[in-house]
Amino acid sequence: MDLANRVKTLTPSSTLAITAKAKELKEQGYDVIGLGAGEPDFNTPSYIIDAAEKAMRDGLTKYTPSGGIPALKEAIAGKFKNDNQLSYKSEEIIVTTGAKHALYTLFQVLLNPGDEVIVPAPYWVSYPEQIKLAGGNPVVAKTMEDNQFKLTAEQLESAITVKTKAVIINSPSNPTGMMYNEAELAALGEVCLKHNITIVSDEIYEKLIYTNDEHISIAQLSDTLKAQTIVINGVSKSHAMTGWRIGYAAGNEKIIKAMTNLASHSTSNPTSIAQFAALAAYKANNDATNEMKQAFKKRLDTLYNLLIAIPGITCIKPKGAFYLFPNVQQAVKMNGFTNVDEWVTAILEEEKVALVPGSGFGAAENVRLSYATSIGLLTEAAKRIDRFVRSRK
Ligand code: PLP
Repeated sequence: MDLANRVKTLTPSSTLAITAKAKELKEQGYDVIGLGAGEPDFNTPSYIIDAAEKAMRDGLTKYTPSGGIPALKEAIAGKFKNDNQLSYKSEEIIVTTGAKHALYTLFQVLLNPGDEVIVPAPYWVSYPEQIKLAGGNPVVAKTMEDNQFKLTAEQLESAITVKTKAVIINSPSNPTGMMYNEAELAALGEVCLKHNITIVSDEIYEKLIYTNDEHISIAQLSDTLKAQTIVINGVSKSHAMTGWRIGYAAGNEKIIKAMTNLASHSTSNPTSIAQFAALAAYKANNDATNEMKQAFKKRLDTLYNLLIAIPGITCIKPKGAFYLFPNVQQAVKMNGFTNVDEWVTAILEEEKVALVPGSGFGAAENVRLSYATSIGLLTEAAKRIDRFVRSRK
């Protein structure tokens, strides 16, 4: 049976692939340390679980409006107001089946065949695939490691063509953990306004920042930028709710309406009880998130210090999210490998540590390590990588 052309070039997510390989080895009885995870290892806070249970008992188990229950939209609007000083009407918000599906739906309603979306590299693995699935062309704009992997206004300007429809900004970033400051966002915003380019601002890691840097949404900078921006966010990372699948998009009413129409024919609605759980998450204070953040910060400091002591590995210290994205090119060469993918495979096979090669993120010299696991395992993983690198010098 022949498949549709649109899925013929679709590649499986590299992060999920390494997680699967690590799981396979684990099932064979090996002591594998997986640093591939893209999710908090904490359980969802119990008050959120209680709210979902209550919703089930109360019979709130039916279809909901496609764009989400009004109370949750209101809570999301409240979150935007409190955290980002942004005002959105209910018609400017859609609740989706995770932020991933918000992005997927957005590209579906935004792109015509051949439309270009600028994707700064390193990028989250799903952006280019989702753009292609919508008939668009991802235009990868490589950022410089010595500019903290951040897209400059000049780089953006030179990537723009008559077909450019949108640009993605992901701050804090997966995989680099870097963040844009206000001046950098203002410079990028100016270019977008000049060329009438839609800004897709993925802010899913907003709540996981370990420095004094303040999260700034580009939509905050002016009314014109707000009108030009679709903000993407969700509860997966902020409330350890990856499996519940609740995300959202906010912005231009016409776009949100089209997304809601599309959702009405695809998902119908995000899971009803998960919406009530997300509502509880946003009604409570930030204690659970802050507790998780403290743990992540300790792990980041521990793993970062161990990692940069390994010969041939350099790393810019991330400010947010829960990943380290070191450049391992020197170590790879020193160890006699021709590329990072082979080096990562050898580390998994010999030392049973699962890293994600940077190639899937558009950065062939780097690897991604997630620190969403215990300090004990992170320390052991670093010890094993260190042993591997030194033994092959
Ligand atoms: N955006 C980025 C940058 C991510 O890393 C992820 C998850 O890994 C998502 C969006 C999607 O999150 P979810 O669909 O779980 O809300």
